[in-house]
Amino acid sequence: MVIKWSLARILFLSIIGLTIATSIHGKIVHSRNSPNNKPSESSHPAKSYSDSRHGRIARSAESISANPPAIALPESGPAGPVSDGSSSLVTATEQELNIGIVGEGVVGLSTATAILELNPKAKITIYHDKPFEEILSRGIAGLFRVDDGSDINKLYGNDTFVRLAQLWREYGGLSGVQLLSGHIVSTDKRKLNDQEGNYGKIVTNFRWLKDEELHGVNSVFGYGPNITAGIHYTAFTSEGIRYCPFMKQQLLAKGVKFVQKKLASVDDLAEEGHPIVVNCGGFNGGELAGDDAGNMIPIRGVLLKMDASWHKHFLYLDYTTITIPTIDTVYVGTVKQEGVDGPMHILPEDVEDVWRRYEPIQPALRRARQIGHFVGIRPGRKQIRVEAEDRTTKSGKKYRLVHNYGHGGNGFTLAYGSGLHAAHLALGVKTDRYDGIVPSPLLKDPVKKTWKKAEEFYKEGLNLKSG
Ligand SMILES: Cc1cc2nc3c(=O)[nH]c(=O)nc-3n(C[C@H](O)[C@H](O)[C@H](O)COP(=O)(O)OP(=O)(O)OC[C@H]3O[C@@H](n4cnc5c(N)ncnc54)[C@H](O)[C@@H]3O)c2cc1C
Repeated sequence: MVIKWSLARILFLSIIGLTIATSIHGKIVHSRNSPNNKPSESSHPAKSYSDSRHGRIARSAESISANPPAIALPESGPAGPVSDGSSSLVTATEQELNIGIVGEGVVGLSTATAILELNPKAKITIYHDKPFEEILSRGIAGLFRVDDGSDINKLYGNDTFVRLAQLWREYGGLSGVQLLSGHIVSTDKRKLNDQEGNYGKIVTNFRWLKDEELHGVNSVFGYGPNITAGIHYTAFTSEGIRYCPFMKQQLLAKGVKFVQKKLASVDDLAEEGHPIVVNCGGFNGGELAGDDAGNMIPIRGVLLKMDASWHKHFLYLDYTTITIPTIDTVYVGTVKQEGVDGPMHILPEDVEDVWRRYEPIQPALRRARQIGHFVGIRPGRKQIRVEAEDRTTKSGKKYRLVHNYGHGGNGFTLAYGSGLHAAHLALGVKTDRYDGIVPSPLLKDPVKKTWKKAEEFYKEGLNLKSG
């Protein structure tokens, strides 16, 4: 009897040991974000949704590719941890989970949020070189719209949309999130064709406008430009001046520390004692990484803030001539000056250029009072860099580095989704849902380029080319 009982115990302990070994091995394999990763055969099948709200999201995820990767959005929405049984969440010590993040813009704050949702035990410090009042994310209206409809961006957009919907349900405008409908019109239907594919299944109420809506007596659009096509959809804005402080408050309540300090390199954080470093340095992300400054392209933008609380729908003429109403302001813009990194103050030419294009589609807005303005540099890059690598500092400190920067003109649309991906990589959680759709890394280019100033841009008449 005693022998039988001992044998049973040995057998039981062997099975447990084998399970742990398999799990740890799985962790190592899946924590690498290799572009050549084939969709892995997960032993954790994708979670599915029965509820109709999530059904829509799940369908949009399915449409990402003909042979979609396993999509495992958190069942309880973004607030609940995604538990896939990965052993690192259980076994990591406090020191191993001591994470340093560069950046308190929308991307850094979203990434910290996602990390804590995956593992509430993570100990996070966020470093930023400037006060929040001086950074890009503060001045942005943050309308949800996906410019580049790559499969990975659709997944990031989808995850962000789910997150914003949850915030809207739970906190409404107190979170800085605002439910908003509106229109994009164009003089050339072909310019709108990719919008439906990029995000038509993520947002709600996506539809093409009828002819009478564009040109009839009830049309809400001015007649200046010869508008020939238009779309309508309902999504969210997440306004930087409210949404970022809201996230920061939630992070502070969870024990996240914020330190103002200018870093020369991501290595600095490893030297500070962080075995995991996440680079959300925005436009400076490439330079901080040391191998990517040359892949970053500044795209200067401007926004005028108007006192026009009666303007309740966003309105775009193509993608540069825009209004976005937020909770108590209307933002009018913009310019997309590619390869221009200054000045950081508004020029008379900027204002003239914006109104020259916007006024014909909605003359009424010109009557409103301007109450402010904002100039920012979009962190342009051919694709967002979400990659993990192992590095060693000059003094010999080994650390895991995860990049998450280069969101161009879509940072608010993609931040939570890319942050969730970066969180998976930082914590070594299985990345099955990203396998097969992660783009190949760009060639390394550490050489920082010199860029034009807007005055030169206007002198050369380049603004006239931007719609
Ligand atoms: C005019 C305009 C309109 C836009 N409209 C929209 C929109 O409607 N919807 C949308 O989705 N997106 C929009 N965007 C894009 C969006 O603003 C960006 O993609 C987003 O703000 C990028 O956020 P980020 O956190 O990467 O960068 P940032 O907000 O620039 O944050 C970078 C952080 O890194 C820190 N940092 C940098 N260097 C260092 C260093 N050396 N040491 C320490 N810390 C450092 C900074 O202090 C900062 O905290 C718009 C952009 C512009 C210019």
